[in-house]
Amino acid sequence: MKHERDNASGPRERGRKGHGQGGGRRGRRAFDNGTLRLLILQMIGDRPRHGYEIMDEMEARTAGAYRPSPGVLYPNLSSLEEDGLIACEAADGRRKLCSITPLGQEHLKLNAAKLEARGTKPECGGRRFRREAPPEIADAMDRLKSALRGRFLGRAPGPEAIATAAAAIRAAAETIDALETSPSALPAKDADMTQIITRHRHELRRRELTVREITDITPNMRRIVLDGAELDGFSSLGFDDHIKLFFETGGEKPEMRDYTPRAHDGGTLTLDFAIHEAGPATAWAQGAAVGDTLRIGGPRGSQVIAPVFDWYLLVGDETALPAIGRRVEELPEGVTVVTLAAVTGAAEEQAWQSAATQETHWVHRADAADPAPVLEALEALDLPEGKGFIWIAAEAGVARALKIHMLQDRGHPGEWLKASGYWTKGQADAADKSLG
Ligand SMILES: Cc1cc2nc3c(=O)[nH]c(=O)nc-3n(C[C@H](O)[C@H](O)[C@H](O)COP(=O)(O)OP(=O)(O)OC[C@H]3O[C@@H](n4cnc5c(N)ncnc54)[C@H](O)[C@@H]3O)c2cc1C
Repeated sequence: MKHERDNASGPRERGRKGHGQGGGRRGRRAFDNGTLRLLILQMIGDRPRHGYEIMDEMEARTAGAYRPSPGVLYPNLSSLEEDGLIACEAADGRRKLCSITPLGQEHLKLNAAKLEARGTKPECGGRRFRREAPPEIADAMDRLKSALRGRFLGRAPGPEAIATAAAAIRAAAETIDALETSPSALPAKDADMTQIITRHRHELRRRELTVREITDITPNMRRIVLDGAELDGFSSLGFDDHIKLFFETGGEKPEMRDYTPRAHDGGTLTLDFAIHEAGPATAWAQGAAVGDTLRIGGPRGSQVIAPVFDWYLLVGDETALPAIGRRVEELPEGVTVVTLAAVTGAAEEQAWQSAATQETHWVHRADAADPAPVLEALEALDLPEGKGFIWIAAEAGVARALKIHMLQDRGHPGEWLKASGYWTKGQADAADKSLG
């Protein structure tokens, strides 16, 4: 995936979601693929452990910044066991206790340098926490550490003191766990959030327009500019509005396909066609010539997102790029727009001018209906501070996976997210606009 933010960028490896990814607190990925597995092995190498102890230990070592979920931890334990690096037995008849094998110890030795190089020494999460945590929290942590050191380090405390201290720390952790800390989940006090998306109806008209210009803005994105007297009165208020295009294919009725008004300046209407294995819309765009006519209908209505957000995240594939480009270009100064778009390669990337601060990410993928590459890139995204609106459009299965991730794993409020399936693999004319 390629990232660009102002002049900062850094390539990430692309690939399928692995055992070491995702599942961390607040959806933030703490360790890259493989490192988590090594850390788990290291902890079991220190002493035999149960799964829940590893989760506790990981959380303690990272000063609360990361706790692997069971869905992340247990597949890792299974894979370590399958590889003969650990052996797990049901020690107390219920929970499995995992111990390192001689092969596991060899593996750890071989990978010690890798763990060191990746900066995953136990205290690294603590250092990051110290750097990023609010000062009051960091001070309180220091106070707790100093109290613990003073009472327990180099002493032989009695069981009652240990139990009381452990209970107090657990109670504090539970209180903190119950706090709502996601900035995006806090509605602005000064904004009317009752209507996030407002709907505007338009007079439904059919128009016949004429092709004026054809440009391939990338090898697989054809821009067609249309004009004609019938454009009079055309209105498109929302960046993700759609119009119907009509194609005569010899059937009883014309075929209809949805397209985004990429730009409309009164005299012209611009459409961008992603070129793929052709249905009637793509075939028409590929064969279009200046002077040809195209019949369109709509837009029937526009949905306008209230301009009350600090940031916008726009995610999609080639079919979403017309809406994404339009949105980026229309956003004002003072907001951040993060885009994450999946295309076949660098030649398909586009650049947009905007008064907003842009953070651009591109994923290069082979199969537009495979959610894995774009899901992985989305999981790795750190989103800006403040209130954010998320817009997703892609192949229906991909869009659904991305929506579920943002709602369930990242806890983004559902009313601040809009996701649509713009097409469905293997089916003609099969948008899924609600992904119900
Ligand atoms: C609201 C909305 C706005 C849209 N805006 C745009 C836009 O501005 N530009 C744009 O290019 N598309 C846009 N789309 C997507 C477009 O409508 C579909 O891709 C449509 O299926 C294309 O029609 P077609 O006649 O070429 O293919 P169809 O006859 O519908 O399908 C033929 C075959 O192609 C496959 N297919 C369809 N789309 C793709 C694709 N992108 N990649 C690979 N295979 C595909 C289908 O699964 C099917 O097997 C939008 C969709 C919606 C719902």
